[in-house]
Amino acid sequence: MTQQGGASGGDLTGARLLLKRIRTTMARNLPAQARLDEVVRTIAGAMVAEVCSVYVLRAGEVLELFATEGLKAEAVHLTRLRVGEGLVGDIASHARPLALADAQHHPQFAYRPETGEELYQSFMGVPVLRSGRVLGVLVVQNKTRRHYTEEEVETMETVAMVVAELVAGGELIGREELTPVTGIGVLPERMDAQALAPGLALGVAVLHQPDITLTQLVAEEPLKEIERLDDAFTSMKLALDELLTEEDGAGGGEHREVLETYRMLAEDRGWANRIIEAIETGLTAEAAVQKVQNDMRARMRDIQDPYLRERLSDLDDLNNRLLRHLLGIQELPEARDLPDNAILVARNMGPAELLDYDRKRLKGVVLEEGTASSHVAIVARALDIPLLGHCVGLMGKVQAGDSLVLDCENEQVFLRPSEDILQTFAISMHALLARQESYAANRDLPTVTKDGVGIQLMINAGLLIDVPQLAATGAAGIGLYRTEVTFMVAHSFPDVARQRDVYARVLDVADGRPVVFRTLDIGSDKVLPYWHRDAEENPAMGWRALRISLDRPAMLRQQLRAMILAAAGRTLHVMFPMVSLVEEFDDAKEILDLELQRAEEKGSALPEAVRVGAMFEVPALYWQLDEILARVDFLSIGSNDLAQFVFAADRGNAQLQGRYDPLSPAFQRLIGGVIDAGARHGKSISVCGEIAGDPIDAMALLALGLRTFSMAPPAIGPLRAMIRSLDLGQLQAHVAALGAQRGQDMRSSLRAFALDHGVAI
Ligand code: PEP
Ligand code: MG
Repeated sequence: MTQQGGASGGDLTGARLLLKRIRTTMARNLPAQARLDEVVRTIAGAMVAEVCSVYVLRAGEVLELFATEGLKAEAVHLTRLRVGEGLVGDIASHARPLALADAQHHPQFAYRPETGEELYQSFMGVPVLRSGRVLGVLVVQNKTRRHYTEEEVETMETVAMVVAELVAGGELIGREELTPVTGIGVLPERMDAQALAPGLALGVAVLHQPDITLTQLVAEEPLKEIERLDDAFTSMKLALDELLTEEDGAGGGEHREVLETYRMLAEDRGWANRIIEAIETGLTAEAAVQKVQNDMRARMRDIQDPYLRERLSDLDDLNNRLLRHLLGIQELPEARDLPDNAILVARNMGPAELLDYDRKRLKGVVLEEGTASSHVAIVARALDIPLLGHCVGLMGKVQAGDSLVLDCENEQVFLRPSEDILQTFAISMHALLARQESYAANRDLPTVTKDGVGIQLMINAGLLIDVPQLAATGAAGIGLYRTEVTFMVAHSFPDVARQRDVYARVLDVADGRPVVFRTLDIGSDKVLPYWHRDAEENPAMGWRALRISLDRPAMLRQQLRAMILAAAGRTLHVMFPMVSLVEEFDDAKEILDLELQRAEEKGSALPEAVRVGAMFEVPALYWQLDEILARVDFLSIGSNDLAQFVFAADRGNAQLQGRYDPLSPAFQRLIGGVIDAGARHGKSISVCGEIAGDPIDAMALLALGLRTFSMAPPAIGPLRAMIRSLDLGQLQAHVAALGAQRGQDMRSSLRAFALDHGVAI
């Protein structure tokens, strides 16, 4: 038997009516608990549910039944579930709704006899969210089998926002329980984190997002709210435009790409329409913005893909901007009292938000979330701001004004550091500054070993903002330009003109230094948010990179056309990723030739020279080395993917991290074989995976005969120092004497060699 909610909460009028009733209850001069009791009664009635309950999260770990209509009254404040336990715990842990017609047979169902809930078959619960944080769970239950509609779930989510304000009011539970605090607020504490941009910093915590408190949640006149929303959108877009103009004026416009992405997101009608829909249910414009933000967070919470997660933080950033415009909160951080030694603390932040701050006063940033591939990390690295991410529990422990030490070298944060720590910090800071100064001073020195072997150090880049690192590090060129990054930060497929502009700007800034443009390497963990593809069981070995380009030749043609136009009068270096068969290279090269021919026929200015290469990432290419080397101008070893395929070990799987050492004989022999074959054919071989930037791995590669390295820009200085202090002949003799040492043994042996021979590692 199916029972429907009818007009109860299932349509717009129902939702608005329910909100109105709740608002009346909220306005009554009653203690918070009594208001909550009244609220659950109202919801149960309106949703035509026998049960409505509110569970409140205590101390960040236990969900306590705080009010119920329908369950046994004695269960209130007695029934408790851990986060993750039962259906209620599941909703809290995933921050997403659950609607079940037959709840009792759900594997997560946890029966609590004191509640008497064995009577109820169907269940619908939504998280009670505030500022993206779960404060509790709101549930309705019905005796009969009931299929709750999507609209009903939406209504409950809207109502849950109002309940969130009641919970956050601090009357039901103490405010201190709202943010889970495990440490003791005044004692020093050390927390682990992940270094996303290098450096050290000491400063004062500044909370990036002082909580925006919404006081008005429901509104009578939707039209007026929509007007307010329109105004806020307009002023936000103007502010973004201003920021874009400033970036242009600042010379180089290096952050333009990021800001343009924001500007495009701000134009997204889908986003505005969802907010308008929420306003139409009776919310104020600001509450509607927050509801859409909550929904988005809930939907994307489980997404692991780092790039998609970054879209989420971009959207969070924009949502917060919009809220500030709606509420008339000053947006420009200059207006905020930023101390001279500010360390920003945030759950996550978008790259444009970071750009808002006065860079001179910003000493560092620490994020509870954040990944190395996030845009904010890319921007922080480009601006040389130390950044730590993945600092679990951070937001619950830091208060504004706390002193903080960020130690990106050892991937740790010290809260309220003791005198001892501060002294150690001062010594480390001194040493780091001295090292950085020496790298900068040496950037124009030749990269030559002590025994006179010249080495080429190049950088890997993916955004325009990376390119100035060429001059800053004194690198010889860009050995790998990951063109897909431009596609990933865009809102839709960039057309030929847009691509041509980006590539031309890169070549302009590179100012004559070579730039190797790798054609689109999407698929696997690199996802384009606007291109929906079927999920693959094994995407790393799936439809990706050159395979896509060959199956969708129009895309490849457009990209090559843009590169040809951008490189007019200069040398164009093109590299194809993930080549598995020489025939694939032939096919790609044929398309390049067609595009060159087309450009010539159209009378376009052509590149002065074209050099074509391939990535060596797929082991199968090892047995086609002679054939591929006869065809290419250069090969670049992508050791990240190559290692994952050689060892059958997912490069993104944290559990396998470090399990197979690239210094193990198998991998060394493979790379050595490629380098030798390159020498036989007189073709340049480089390595552009992460191992190229690690001084010890790089020593092993030098001993194998590698002479061209491409790496993240911060690795250039240390590698140049290593090379200039190394006698390569001596190293080669040492390695030859080692024989077939295993990975870790080889690593310690190379380290010992460096220490004994004064090699800077
Ligand atoms: C590699 O696989 O080593 C490489 C450089 O390419 P990416 O990291 O972009 O896959
Ligand atoms: Mg790769």
